[in-house]
Amino acid sequence: MPVTLPDAFIHQMRQLLPHDMEAFLQSYNASRTFGLRINPLKPAAGQPLLAEAVRQFRLEPVPWCGTGYYYEEASRPGKHPYHMAGLYYIQEPSAMTAAELLDPQPGELILDLAAAPGGKTTQIAGKMAGQGVLIANEIHPARAKILSENVERCGIANAIVTSAAPDELSRRFPGLFDRIMLDAPCSGEGMFRKDETAISEWSVAHVAMCAARQADILDHAAILLKPGGRLVYSTCTFNRLENEETIAAFCSKYPAFSVMRLERIWPHIERGEGHFVAVLQKAGTSSPAFAGDAGDSPSAAEQHPGKSKRERRRNHTAAGTSGLEADMALMRAFAETALPGGWTLGPGEPLRFGDALYWLPHPASGSTSPIGAGDLNGLKVPRPGLHLGDVRKNRLEPAHALAMAVPAGAAAWMQSYRPEAPEIAAFLRGETLPAQEGSTGWGLIAVDGLSLGWGKASGGQIKNHLPKGLRRFT
Ligand code: SAM
Repeated sequence: MPVTLPDAFIHQMRQLLPHDMEAFLQSYNASRTFGLRINPLKPAAGQPLLAEAVRQFRLEPVPWCGTGYYYEEASRPGKHPYHMAGLYYIQEPSAMTAAELLDPQPGELILDLAAAPGGKTTQIAGKMAGQGVLIANEIHPARAKILSENVERCGIANAIVTSAAPDELSRRFPGLFDRIMLDAPCSGEGMFRKDETAISEWSVAHVAMCAARQADILDHAAILLKPGGRLVYSTCTFNRLENEETIAAFCSKYPAFSVMRLERIWPHIERGEGHFVAVLQKAGTSSPAFAGDAGDSPSAAEQHPGKSKRERRRNHTAAGTSGLEADMALMRAFAETALPGGWTLGPGEPLRFGDALYWLPHPASGSTSPIGAGDLNGLKVPRPGLHLGDVRKNRLEPAHALAMAVPAGAAAWMQSYRPEAPEIAAFLRGETLPAQEGSTGWGLIAVDGLSLGWGKASGGQIKNHLPKGLRRFT
């Protein structure tokens, strides 16, 4: 696509790249790069399926991300049933570097502060391997919904999706997180090859506005990070104001932070649209997030004056405790018949929102979580953990999120088909399927062993329980 770049942008880039400007401009004549990341949370995503994906989508490895691959545009992996099954996440290759440098560890308490649509969230969750707690936050509610859908599709059980402004979080959870990802809203100069509106929205004034907003969000990230914690700041823009200068101003304002690494991916040097990443370390040491009640922040106490954190939590759940026990009994009864293959919930606590029963993840079992049910009161939380199901007339109707989070082999029955099988297209359209021998009650429809959603078999037919909003008619 021929691109017309703003004069002021060209001027800025000449100053930034005095020796490489010709090569940089030439990169706009090359076609954009396309990438996907294999999702390690899908246990069936082993060698045979990976080899199948490599062949189907002509995958080539992305050098800076072990699970990242370039794909050929015409192979359209976003339309393939494997995508619906969460086998991979479509992500621009250079954007994969930030979560690699965050280096998340299983068991940690991690915040993705500007998370939608979920590229970094799903990558971080893959590295956490279901252990610990990931808060994926997105300020804009409509984008938070898309984030929730991607979290569900990728089978992430230990993420809480919030929709809050950074200051709402920093008042509640100061010094709580082991690691924070801030993939900041930016002027998007690295998007010019793939998105013309990024060009039309660009101006010198817009860059300055973005830099001011980034400084503001960083103030809250500084509060939210634990002593000794790691903050990764990234953008998909090139100018120094939103990158090196933002980081330099931040470090002079907060001397506890030091820069461990600065990384740039340039479109004229690497196969990627371009990214900036800064890895920052906060001085100090601290105990793990889940050791006792360290997360009892003064600000949280202010919202519930005169009450300890334990009391606040007790008050939140007291009215519904026996109700929640009954709900969990329904869940256990469901799991005994529909998931006899040994799947278990991780550390956490049940939570009800209307009919919906969730499992709010905790960082570890047998300890007080710094983000318990009471700590979420008053926050917008589109997804307070894993959606287990909806309680209706004294039975549990399993949630789609649960179908995506359990290994398909744990189900009482699984009907798995090749991607091109007519049954897969029919299931994705929401149609009933013929039940195979042995399929009765709740079970899973799968593509090459990867769950696509629930079905309920009776009388030789499988009723389709794929949510209406996910059905596809093309
Ligand atoms: N990390 C995401 C991913 O990998 O898919 C992309 C994040 S995008 C670059 C930046 C996000 O910041 C957008 O979703 C935007 O809605 C959000 N945002 C905008 N203004 C914000 C603000 N003032 N505070 C926090 N986030 C904001």
